[in-house]
Amino acid sequence: MALKVCKFGGTSMADGNIIVEVKKIMESDKDRRFAVVSAPGKRYSGDVKVTDLLYSCQSELNETGGISKSFPAVRARFLDIARQLNLKTDIGAVLDETERRIVSENSTDFTASRGEYLSARVFAEVSGAKFIDSEEVIFFKADGTLDGAKSYKAISEAVDGVKLAVFPGFYGKGADGRVKTFSRGGSDITGAVVARAVNATLYENWTDVSGFLACDPHIVDSPRRIKTLSYKELRELSYMGADVLHSESIFPVRKANIPINIKNTFRPQDEGTTIVPTSRHILSGDTVTGIAGRKNFTVIYIEKSLMNAEIGFIRKVLSVIEGAGVPVEHIPSGIDTMSLVVSGEALSGDKLNEIIENIKEAVDPDVVRVIENIALIATVGHGMSSSVGTSARLFNAIASADINIKMIDQGSSELNIVVGVKNEDYERCIKAIYNEFFASCR
Ligand code: ASP
Repeated sequence: MALKVCKFGGTSMADGNIIVEVKKIMESDKDRRFAVVSAPGKRYSGDVKVTDLLYSCQSELNETGGISKSFPAVRARFLDIARQLNLKTDIGAVLDETERRIVSENSTDFTASRGEYLSARVFAEVSGAKFIDSEEVIFFKADGTLDGAKSYKAISEAVDGVKLAVFPGFYGKGADGRVKTFSRGGSDITGAVVARAVNATLYENWTDVSGFLACDPHIVDSPRRIKTLSYKELRELSYMGADVLHSESIFPVRKANIPINIKNTFRPQDEGTTIVPTSRHILSGDTVTGIAGRKNFTVIYIEKSLMNAEIGFIRKVLSVIEGAGVPVEHIPSGIDTMSLVVSGEALSGDKLNEIIENIKEAVDPDVVRVIENIALIATVGHGMSSSVGTSARLFNAIASADINIKMIDQGSSELNIVVGVKNEDYERCIKAIYNEFFASCR
């Protein structure tokens, strides 16, 4: 039997009118039984998301011990929504209680979670669904990661015999018994966790775009929509900055082979993008599926003669980076050279100098050089491994745009080729790659 879990993002919860549309979406398909909702997002460009208003409440609380200046904006958003929807719930009383608890709990995660909590309370009344508080069914381990087994069990017990339910996204309970949130955008993960727990046949993720585009529409005018994507391609693209879906939200559903369908609340008739377990399902025959990238990486280049013969060289270098608590994104290497690509943000303060000094001490290299302001661009697609000449086309396109490639990393999966270019060449490089692989088939 088909069973769908639907996650509705912030723009789908932004005001009463759109919440009514969401209710219609749920009602139009009886397989849509479980909803996961975000906090109200922006109603117009320049508006502030409720989650951001709540983070401001916490800043005020930290500074002054109260939230009297910043909470009224949160209150106003929910009072508006309640008025538009004609809610019976005494939302004023719920907001009073929320305000009191934000002050007494005094925890950033608790404060930030209240947008989802209130949103789910509202939607439960509107849709006649049971409200299930994620605090009671989603659990984190002491190391801060999701306790999948415990959460799946609690969710499946909570929905037993329930026809329609709504869960607040973004948060659960930490190992210390207090409310804990996922990282920003984490309601996508909640949706995936619920989908896995109830053994859904489909995880629908309702946003304000009709799926993934082959590249950033701010760079290329109306790029092609991607109809089907594999979990692996999605992981590569969202890690590299395609931000339709939280990059960690695939893990729970991937294990259970549950496809994800990205849909547009404002254009429900659009097919969207479907994310499927393996490339065998990809029917498009395209060589490249999508292009994504991020700016501001730093490359630490290390050279030492006979590096390849020195046992433990890479381990020693990596221990230095690990000791500094900096994640490494890529490690392109040659016979006597290796580079560490790290995000520029991770190197705040004096970290970079400290790392360089420690590398010199640990492995006595011939050369250590730092190249900053590098943009990484990933060209992703399962089709790339089976088509001869893909890299030649890619590098030719970049060369024809007169862009110097600073680094190349082809993942061993042959699923992607990552190039590093100067930040200032980023947009031009994406355009050049897009035009090479997609321009003719728009
Ligand atoms: N409301 C949270 C955020 O803005 C979580 C989410 O929307 O997924 O990050």
